[in-house]
Amino acid sequence: MTQVFKFGGASIRDAAAIRHLGDLLARFPARPLIVVVSAMGKTTDALEALLAAARGDDPADYRERLETLRREHLATVEALFGASAGPVAQRVEALITELDRRHRRHARRERPFHYDQTVCFGELLSTTIVAAWLEDTGLASEWRDARELIVTDGTHQAANVNWSATAERVRGLDLDDGRLRVTQGFIGATPEGDATTLGREGSDYSAAILAHCLAAEAVTIWKDVPGLFNADPRRVDNAVQLETISYGEAIALAWHGAKVIHPKTLAPLQQRAIPLKVRSFQDLAASGSTIGDDARRDGEVPALMLCEAQTLLEVRPRDFAFMDEARQHDILGRLVAAGLHAGLIDAGATRLSLCLDSHPERLEPLVASLSSNYAVTRRDDLTLLTVRHGDDALLRALGEGRDCLAERRNADTAQRLFPASQCPATWHVPT
Ligand code: ADP
Ligand code: ASP
Ligand code: MG
Repeated sequence: MTQVFKFGGASIRDAAAIRHLGDLLARFPARPLIVVVSAMGKTTDALEALLAAARGDDPADYRERLETLRREHLATVEALFGASAGPVAQRVEALITELDRRHRRHARRERPFHYDQTVCFGELLSTTIVAAWLEDTGLASEWRDARELIVTDGTHQAANVNWSATAERVRGLDLDDGRLRVTQGFIGATPEGDATTLGREGSDYSAAILAHCLAAEAVTIWKDVPGLFNADPRRVDNAVQLETISYGEAIALAWHGAKVIHPKTLAPLQQRAIPLKVRSFQDLAASGSTIGDDARRDGEVPALMLCEAQTLLEVRPRDFAFMDEARQHDILGRLVAAGLHAGLIDAGATRLSLCLDSHPERLEPLVASLSSNYAVTRRDDLTLLTVRHGDDALLRALGEGRDCLAERRNADTAQRLFPASQCPATWHVPT
């Protein structure tokens, strides 16, 4: 049965990391195997900056950034292939030329369309290098273009999968020739062939889409942490690894901001009972975490999620009218149109409070739109803490010495919004 592996930017950030990836894959000889790969390191951030320079009418900055991208990818190719770098270097050059051509061709189109036609090159570059390297080390591999596999609608930057068309294309792959397949995470295309992207950090979701369509045996996402923890181990000094957890609980953690898994990843796997393993690409001996049907250990330890760079908007009708369903509908409709998600929503008699990512490009137009009909107050630089399965004592201890600016609580989830200035760089879960 088919296995799907996904490798993120950190696992292929440079030549040494790509060599390590080859060594890792050599230890998994079973086929069929599909390897989904993100862009190298922080390439997607670099492409976003490139696009901003291009759209901000700064051609010199655009050219410099394109040249940096070209140089960095070519340096990786040279470090990997040495004297025989020629053919792969040529393919990298051709992709950079094509990226530049597409940017010029689509520069006058709306930003999300232009974004998808250019930012997709991060994954096209990385997979070209990775597939060639695997082949070079003797691992028979085939590069596949995800734009020919994952069919989406035209909602650029947040494309919705056309499941039946995607399933038809994916099931049409002949995977039984003993070669592994290397393809891009994060990207797809419309039926007309325009590139689309699935949202930042969307490569986990790509792996789940392919696994769902193939009814794969399992998906493994290889990370720079040993597994899924009850909190980000880089931010919480006593975080503990969760060995097994249910799809439902993992969806809740991802939804509330556990950035280790893209929230859309779980549903396609749950529908086909395909387990998701989170493992360390640095430590193959570590068992990792398994997300599946088994809910027996859910909630054994409380889980903490931290969302930083949050803004609280308090929206009130100017005439002291009720914040009734019609007004909530109006306000939330504007939120959806702005492409924003509220991590916390709380309604009062004449007030609706929304806690949002401080994403300036989306937030400022929303604030302007709301301000034309409502009285809006805002507070920036906030941290949203979400606790699953925490008791009163834990919540009290986590809030001690901090002003709580908004809160929400139900049976298993509590959320508190604090000024970032009152939050520590490293948290500790009181026990
Ligand atoms: P990728 O290379 O696949 O893009 P990410 O950087 O998106 O990987 O995800 C791995 C990071 O997620 C880790 O370095 C860790 O700091 C962070 N993280 C956040 N929450 C958790 C959690 N609950 N468990 C494990 N890691 C977490
Ligand atoms: N390269 C994309 C990003 O950085 C997708 C991913 O890494 O999952 O958002
Ligand atoms: Mg990521």
